[in-house]
Amino acid sequence: MTEESYIIVGAGVFGASTALHLIDKYPSASITLIDRNAKCGASWDWNKVIRSDYRDELYTRLALEARELWVNDALYKPYYHAVPMVWISGTEPSVYVENHRKAGVEPNFKMLTVDEAKSEFGGLFKDADYEGVDKIYVNYDSGWAEAKDVLDNVVAAAVSKGVKFIACGVSTVVFDESGSRAIGVRTSAGDFISGTKVILCNGAGLPKLMADSAPDRDDLQPGPNITAASVITGNASSGSDVSKLMGSPICSKGTGLQGGYIPPTVHTPLKFWSDMTYKNTVQHPSERTMSMPPAGEDNNQWAVPEAMSRELEEAAIGILGPDSGITLCDFRVCWELTTASEDNIISPHPACKDLYIATAGSFHSFKFLPILGKYVVQMLDGALDPDLTTRWAWDQPVFSNGDRERYPTRELKEFWSFERPRQVI
Ligand SMILES: Cc1cc2nc3c(=O)[nH]c(=O)nc-3n(C[C@H](O)[C@H](O)[C@H](O)COP(=O)(O)OP(=O)(O)OC[C@H]3O[C@@H](n4cnc5c(N)ncnc54)[C@H](O)[C@@H]3O)c2cc1C
Repeated sequence: MTEESYIIVGAGVFGASTALHLIDKYPSASITLIDRNAKCGASWDWNKVIRSDYRDELYTRLALEARELWVNDALYKPYYHAVPMVWISGTEPSVYVENHRKAGVEPNFKMLTVDEAKSEFGGLFKDADYEGVDKIYVNYDSGWAEAKDVLDNVVAAAVSKGVKFIACGVSTVVFDESGSRAIGVRTSAGDFISGTKVILCNGAGLPKLMADSAPDRDDLQPGPNITAASVITGNASSGSDVSKLMGSPICSKGTGLQGGYIPPTVHTPLKFWSDMTYKNTVQHPSERTMSMPPAGEDNNQWAVPEAMSRELEEAAIGILGPDSGITLCDFRVCWELTTASEDNIISPHPACKDLYIATAGSFHSFKFLPILGKYVVQMLDGALDPDLTTRWAWDQPVFSNGDRERYPTRELKEFWSFERPRQVI
């Protein structure tokens, strides 16, 4: 039994998984999950890659743990599609193999030469750009998930067990008189909702929420190693012939204009993503300068500068070649919270009691949906492994941008001001 009342802000993968794992562990606790329900966070997408290939041993191990559930658990399995994943990258791929072996798993992989890659998979990648690439790694135990549908299913499962879902924005975290303890949240409708533990899982909305909540408190704001950032995605347009890509591998290209695609099905689109990241630096009324998603109900996610969509098209050409017959549409700027280390944050806030952070997927954390909440509950209970406590701390080491390729250096607004000539795919 617990007397705790938990407030979870944000129902992306971190918030939804936390709600489900909390109610499973503490069935009689009061758990409120609040999301402004605009379905525009990083998690609310058509489809996401589920892979275990990481240069970092920790995330290989976690991805393998999550994959067991994607493949076998009734909650996740209906939304999981097993396909190989092809890596066209200039980075030495043997580290992926080593990390699987360190985790006690023999990967089901192949290492191809460029010539072999051109003829494999029915010649799908015969016209890809292989400059700077000499080994192509293929992991046959990869796949992708129907993102929005599985997330809806997890939220519904949590609600069916007793979690209360409120569709509303949160305007501020509310503190006690001394400011040293979080006691609840104020919604955008003006209601105060009290809780003994407030858990912020609100992704790219976090820097603004902290600045709105405590404009005079530097000690509560995210440090320079945490920022809201975006990438763009686009789908094949309806006139494109995507039949040859049905059931095909996922492909990730790590050279040139970086990005990848997830294959289509009859009811899900062929989706391309870009690995180029952007920020939107603005001045908050507290006079802090920070990156946050553009104002607007849905983060203005459908307002994509032409020059950015051109970059995605070029990334697609780098994979499928210039004559694939595929054109892109539905360009979307998608925001999330990212750290320079690409680690998550699953941590108590060091400057405020009963305030916790569980977010910062750093563009790779959807795949951990089945297990994220388990680690968040361990953190809340003070039982998180010390190594994970350090890796996922709020105060993470500061890296220079040059060290970390995914940490954004480019500004969204720059892209509104120049033209990038269109190349026809
Ligand atoms: C384009 C793109 C492609 C990606 N592809 C992959 C992939 O293929 N595989 C993979 O594993 N990972 C992928 N990722 C990463 C993954 O999607 C994210 O790491 C993950 O979804 C982050 O989850 P989150 O819960 O932290 O944030 P989010 O999913 O952004 O959720 C935050 C939630 O908080 C809500 N919110 C924000 N502020 C407030 C407020 N003030 N009040 C109330 N609610 C609020 C939002 O509405 C949102 O629902 C991708 C990310 C992006 C952006």
